Amino acid sequence: MQLNPNTPIKDINKIAAQLAPKFKKLGIQTIKDLLFYYPYRYDDYSNLIKIKALRPNVLTTLRVKVELINSRRSFRKRMLITEAFVSDETGKIKVVWFNQRYIAKILQIGDEIYLSGKPILAMDNNNLEFHNPSFEKISKYNRNKITIHTNRLVPIYSTTEKLSQKQIRFILKKALPCISQLKEWLPQNIIRQEKLFPLSQAIHQIHFPISKQNLAQARRRLKFDEIFLIQMRNGLVKKELLKHLSQPIRFHNDETKKFVSKLPFQMTTSQKRSAWEIIQDLGKNKPMNRLLEGDVGSGKTVTAALAILNVLLDKFQVAYMAPTEILAQQQFKVFCEIFKGYDFKIALLTRSQSVANGQRLAAKKSELIKQIKAGKVGLVVGTHALIQEKVNFGNLAFVIVDEQHRFGVEQRKALKAKAAGDKMPHFLSMTATPIPRSLALTLYGDLNLSIIDELPQDRKAIKTKIIEPGQRAATYNFIRNEIKSGRQVFVICPLIDPSDKLGVKAVKEEFEKLDKKIFPKLKIGLLHGRLKAKEKEKIMREFAENKIKILVSTLVVEVGIDVPNATVMLIESAERFGLAQLHQLRGRVGRAKHQSYCFLFTESDSEDTIKRLQAVVTAKNGFELAEKDLEFRGPGEVYGIKQSGYLDALKMAKLTDWPIIKIAKPWVEKILNADPTLANHPNLKAKLADFEMSVHFE
Ligand code: ADP
Ligand code: MG
Repeated sequence: MQLNPNTPIKDINKIAAQLAPKFKKLGIQTIKDLLFYYPYRYDDYSNLIKIKALRPNVLTTLRVKVELINSRRSFRKRMLITEAFVSDETGKIKVVWFNQRYIAKILQIGDEIYLSGKPILAMDNNNLEFHNPSFEKISKYNRNKITIHTNRLVPIYSTTEKLSQKQIRFILKKALPCISQLKEWLPQNIIRQEKLFPLSQAIHQIHFPISKQNLAQARRRLKFDEIFLIQMRNGLVKKELLKHLSQPIRFHNDETKKFVSKLPFQMTTSQKRSAWEIIQDLGKNKPMNRLLEGDVGSGKTVTAALAILNVLLDKFQVAYMAPTEILAQQQFKVFCEIFKGYDFKIALLTRSQSVANGQRLAAKKSELIKQIKAGKVGLVVGTHALIQEKVNFGNLAFVIVDEQHRFGVEQRKALKAKAAGDKMPHFLSMTATPIPRSLALTLYGDLNLSIIDELPQDRKAIKTKIIEPGQRAATYNFIRNEIKSGRQVFVICPLIDPSDKLGVKAVKEEFEKLDKKIFPKLKIGLLHGRLKAKEKEKIMREFAENKIKILVSTLVVEVGIDVPNATVMLIESAERFGLAQLHQLRGRVGRAKHQSYCFLFTESDSEDTIKRLQAVVTAKNGFELAEKDLEFRGPGEVYGIKQSGYLDALKMAKLTDWPIIKIAKPWVEKILNADPTLANHPNLKAKLADFEMSVHFE
């Protein structure tokens, strides 16, 4: 049978037919899937030497003849031991395999084989011997053919139980001839000018590299592919968005100046710059698609408020979406306060709440929805669920989503459908996750970026300390004193038991401990994801009103909550959080003039753990920590973008592969400018469609 990339694994041969269900578990159904299933590391067995030259514990390959081989049971009959002596012209050495029944059947005296592994010193006689080495027979048929398990850089794949490395390599070898049928989708001039491997060569060399240089080249090509495709997709999304028209918003110069001058503080330079970038985008008749990045407490709300002001003055509607009900409620209050002197209509609309500031507006949900549709409410604050709810807008021009990295294509479609007329609203996402620029360029190439990279000047640095078990009691005393002088405390617990998905158990136990044993006289609140919205709201209110002194919580409070009187952030098992996450949690305190503290509790005494936590103590800003986190944990953990699909797309590249990101970008722009529909790049177009299917973009 003629094999091609679309041939199912089961049709390759009899053995493949048996193994097919196991391959399926790895998501591999066809030859093509298999070819694009890259090794995650390599054993370097390319060091072929003679027996005489063997050194203990050094990865080596020998070409030897089997002199003797036999199997026996160990004296307790538990283990099958296969022993052999092998030789080359310089010497002889013992080889032992444990519990590998088939070896004695395959290997016979007189066979020529390659052996790869690390020789060790035998305990009894101090001679070198091999335990469980890889081997490969050299038959008279394959004398000149390449080896796949030994005598080379040997690929290691992540696999499931019962599908061995040898089996994967064996089937791969059968599939190799199909490589030449893979369609090259990258334009030839890019391949030539950037000195990239052609696709077929890259795929061949990624599995069975003939040298480290070739492996590096293969990797470079495959990384390029991934980054190029992500950028290409973002470029297309951007072009698509720009086909739509938006409502241009006039800049109300005098009103804006007045607004700024009435603020109880000076806006920072980067707040002003970011606000200006947003306002300029709003003035265009093309939809804005912008991300506002800024550390917790950097003042994104007031920055956005400047833009909102202009839209409301122009008599258009704004939708503001927060990640949780609590935050929606809090932001609603903030906006009511900010726009106190104006006659804007502001409403809060979530699953369980509907409130409006003006008396003329009914608080009944259905009534409110009618008013929004009639365009009578200027600013609607809600959760992300605003998109799903049956809410239509009369003249929506501007949508803000807080604590989200971007608007997905689907989200945008949904919002356009809810807006009046045929105009696309302007979009602004805001995030406190400090995403390094390199990452942002790849991930968010369809967005324009505004960065607030300074904190308001009146902020005092938060004193951060790692607390070992021995210092616990003293720290609790310190907390008692803080509370005595009127302050409040957050206690955050991580997920410990994986079955306890929301961390409810962990947080309840901590609550019990603090409530009964440590601070029996103080009022302590408990907050977690299982509570009803009403209960959460009550607890948050009591905390905000300083009735609750200590709030024990899961990560629910990670984003947004503003209680300036809280001065202590205590984090249990801090090592279980990412650095960026810890930084964000710390940002919950230090929001007013009081000196604030962040205590990182840990039971761990591992050097690495302490080093990581130490980074939080010394870091100057979130961007610095994000870079460190990237080194320690990888982008998925750090940015919560696991679900977003981008990481599925990146099997080879890292989002921080800066040199590749840089060379890919101009090519993407060049192609999209010359050929916006990719009509002249059919293979690329097909590959992108494929890519879109295999990766679930948000
Ligand atoms: P975030 O960027 O985390 O959303 P907020 O917008 O909630 O931060 O701002 C945090 C606090 O800082 C708010 O109480 C806000 O009024 C205040 N604030 C914002 N900008 C400034 C500034 N330039 N100077 C002083 N305080 C500010
Ligand atoms: Mg905020």
